[in-house]
Amino acid sequence: MKKCLKDVNMKNKTVIIRCDFNVPLKKGKIIDNTRIEKSLETIKYCIKEKAKVILLSHLGRVKTEEDKKEKSLKPVSKELEKLLKQKITFIEETRGEKVEKKVSSLKPGEVLLLENTRFEDIEGKKESGNDEELGAYWAHLADIFINDAFGTAHRAHASNVGIASHIKTSCIGFLIEKELSALEELNCPNKPFIVILGGSKVGDKIGVIENIVAKADKILIGGGMAFTFLKAEGYEIGNSICDNEHLSFCEKITKKYPEKIILPVDFKVTSEFSDETPVTEKGIDELDFDDIGLDIGTSTIEIFKNHLKDAKLVLWNGPLGVYELENFKLGTNEVLNNLAEKNIKTILGGGDIVAAAKNAKVEDKIYHISTGGGATLEYLEGKSLPGIEAIK
Ligand code: AMP
Repeated sequence: MKKCLKDVNMKNKTVIIRCDFNVPLKKGKIIDNTRIEKSLETIKYCIKEKAKVILLSHLGRVKTEEDKKEKSLKPVSKELEKLLKQKITFIEETRGEKVEKKVSSLKPGEVLLLENTRFEDIEGKKESGNDEELGAYWAHLADIFINDAFGTAHRAHASNVGIASHIKTSCIGFLIEKELSALEELNCPNKPFIVILGGSKVGDKIGVIENIVAKADKILIGGGMAFTFLKAEGYEIGNSICDNEHLSFCEKITKKYPEKIILPVDFKVTSEFSDETPVTEKGIDELDFDDIGLDIGTSTIEIFKNHLKDAKLVLWNGPLGVYELENFKLGTNEVLNNLAEKNIKTILGGGDIVAAAKNAKVEDKIYHISTGGGATLEYLEGKSLPGIEAIK
């Protein structure tokens, strides 16, 4: 385990925390503050421990001067003030005299937020390219570096790897600590360990399947990716989505693990990618050339529930149907509700399944919801995460 917050003495020291404030904004207003809320535990702890706190985060991508207007962290500073019930000093710069002056006058318990780290990307991608000088600059502002941005841990940027490699003391924050301790359960899972995979493309999940298939007792496959598996088995899939490049991967893996890979037996089909066209339910050998399968069918839901009933651990990545459309969210919702009602220990592995769980209002009943997206997928593929590796 990496060094954690409680392992460091931060009293009267300056800490620089890499947070994930990459929140969705509409006309300058935050439309979902979940990421800010999730960062509060670490920030509050540092305030309570009487550290002088500097916060860093990226917000979206910044390629031109024009992008800066829409990507300022100013609305985040206001939201943080509200949530922490204390003043936050916001400096609309990422470095320079103003920053240094404020840092040197910070008092224990005070909080300073610097501008979006990606403003440094306009000239030469200094943040995203892990510019040596930039990492060293941010590091020299503080005594301790705390990385609490799991969402960017799979990238080596100046604001994570750069700072960590130029500072004596670094540790992970509570958010990353929680993510890692939940995800580490997958290394040696309690059995039966069932994996559910859905979403649109097989290509995005190949690494996860290869890394997890030996440990999993079953892999239940739904969503658009099921059609590539079914086509590889010779079924007519109509106009359903298909990842033709990966047909041979699907064929090979189902041949190698015929007992483990469980595919749908029926679907909700329609004629257009829409809620407007009539929906029918068809068995897998009944699809016509113009059918589009957008959700798993009733028998598949029952089969999946049956495989899940004795599970001791479930990992789920990718929805089982087009959960964004009213007519095709049932499969995902039924299985989510089933896991929640039966209290089955479930880890939702980032991305769209997290939004689906929010829509289904089961978030509170799920053991762990990973916030990572790309970082979670890379972890599940067995790759190491540079933003965490860099912590000594
Ligand atoms: P991913 O990012 O690969 O996890 O894919 C998530 C997306 O897959 C969501 O936007 C879903 O709407 C979509 N999806 C799920 N099932 C299907 C399906 N049967 N056909 C097309 N797209 C699907």
